Amino acid sequence: MRRVSVVGAGPNGLTAAAVLARAGIEVDVFERADRVGGACSSARLFGDATVDLGAAAHPFGVASPAFRALGLERHGLEWCHPPIPMAHPLDDAPAALLLPDPAATADQLGRDGDAWLALHAHLVRHLDRHLANVLAPPLRWPAHPGAMARFGATAWPSALALGRRVFGQEPARALLAGSAAHAGVPPSSPLTAAFGLLFGALGMTRGWPFARGGSGAITRALAAEVEAHGGRIHVGQQVRDLGELPPGPVVLSLTPHAVLGLQGLEVRPAVRRRLMRWRHGVASHKVDYLLDGSVPWADARLADAGTVHVAGTVAELEAAERATARGEMPRHPFVLVCQPGAADATRSRSGVVVWAYTHVPAGWREPEPGWVTSLVEAQLERFAPGFTSRVRCRAERTPSQLEAWDANLVGGDIAGGSMAGLQGVLRPGLTLDPHTLRRGGVYLASSATSPGAGVHGMPGWWAARAVIRDASRPSPIWDARARGADRR
Ligand SMILES: Cc1cc2nc3c(=O)[nH]c(=O)nc-3n(C[C@H](O)[C@H](O)[C@H](O)COP(=O)(O)OP(=O)(O)OC[C@H]3O[C@@H](n4cnc5c(N)ncnc54)[C@H](O)[C@@H]3O)c2cc1C
Repeated sequence: MRRVSVVGAGPNGLTAAAVLARAGIEVDVFERADRVGGACSSARLFGDATVDLGAAAHPFGVASPAFRALGLERHGLEWCHPPIPMAHPLDDAPAALLLPDPAATADQLGRDGDAWLALHAHLVRHLDRHLANVLAPPLRWPAHPGAMARFGATAWPSALALGRRVFGQEPARALLAGSAAHAGVPPSSPLTAAFGLLFGALGMTRGWPFARGGSGAITRALAAEVEAHGGRIHVGQQVRDLGELPPGPVVLSLTPHAVLGLQGLEVRPAVRRRLMRWRHGVASHKVDYLLDGSVPWADARLADAGTVHVAGTVAELEAAERATARGEMPRHPFVLVCQPGAADATRSRSGVVVWAYTHVPAGWREPEPGWVTSLVEAQLERFAPGFTSRVRCRAERTPSQLEAWDANLVGGDIAGGSMAGLQGVLRPGLTLDPHTLRRGGVYLASSATSPGAGVHGMPGWWAARAVIRDASRPSPIWDARARGADRR
């Protein structure tokens, strides 16, 4: 039987392993931590509360072609949808709401309602075609060229420019720009409109759900699928030397610099240079809360929102993200808030779990412990007066603590590498075959490769497809020598 090793048991490594195991390949997964999941895990915190340690909301997860094909629901995964997928509160005005229906979303956007519908119409109507295009390697002929051309024509500018051109009012512009800011680059950056449009269309069709019982349910389901097909998962095993792995090709769900640090890596100098050019992006600082009661939002409808973008106006959001990208910590940062309890009653019996993170500059250190948390809470107080008086417990994780927990979160960069400029699309650089580092020997599956960050498993899916493609060609690929494993 053919044999492949997978390094890293986050959503991408596990997806690759599941696809390979289903193809009849003998798979061993090696994971540094003492549990599977990577940045898609949850744990008990604050007593009985289930807290998502990394990813919380899953617009791309619920729509992922890979997760659908793997049938994760058979292993207990259940998506829970909040009544309002996403909201963006504004000072002294009703919040902008992304609702699970285009007409309902447009209705509360006033004069911009028709423009909102027109902007998203093609995406909403042909979402699967668009997902097949954007969740695939970028330098290939798209699965649906017409849809790709149409999306590209609308999505190439910045979310800021598109919002200004199409909408006349703040709420619609805020919905677009807030979603775009998930990319960790200022919404004035080219191509950020693509993120805003896709997140909006997903919210109005598939939703921005949580996983019942915590995000760990997603990666546990992936692990169960691997094992159901005979795959083996070895936790507590940090891989430093490819020569220590079983003979055969290896799929690495690691960042490019971590790949280059592996002993026994044999790749062409051009590939090595491409990986060396990899840049990391802004960091995240995470804060989890257990509250005595629900968040006292000034706009009470937000109690039903799964995800809330706390930033204020688009101009404030842009200023915050621009400062962060420049290396300065903004006084009024963009705070991403999730309220899993709006959809999943299992998260805590004794209080309300609130998940939040904010972007902080790469490599930046807070002047004193708790400083970033105080900025986060000032933003929350602004739109939810009385928030801090409801805090029973809080737990924060700085960028360096995030990296110590999951080595792929380099410097606290949760996207596996900056999404700025061409690197946002050409991951891990300019190549027609982004998942193959050495044909028949070494493959890349992390969010540093196409189609990038998020819990959807697509980098792992494509990496596994590349392995299977090469396996069907006559070549020495199943020979340990292909990656130098017989040097010992
Ligand atoms: C705070 C935070 C919030 C996020 N929010 C969201 C969200 O709401 N929605 C969303 O879709 N995405 C979100 N993300 C992003 C998402 O979690 C990542 O894009 C996704 O987990 C990447 O998957 P991966 O498998 O490539 O890497 P990871 O999930 O990082 O997994 C990599 C695994 O490799 C292991 N590893 C590393 N080095 C080695 C080694 N040498 N040997 C063995 N094992 C190794 C690590 O321990 C880890 O388990 C968030 C991430 C974070 C951190």
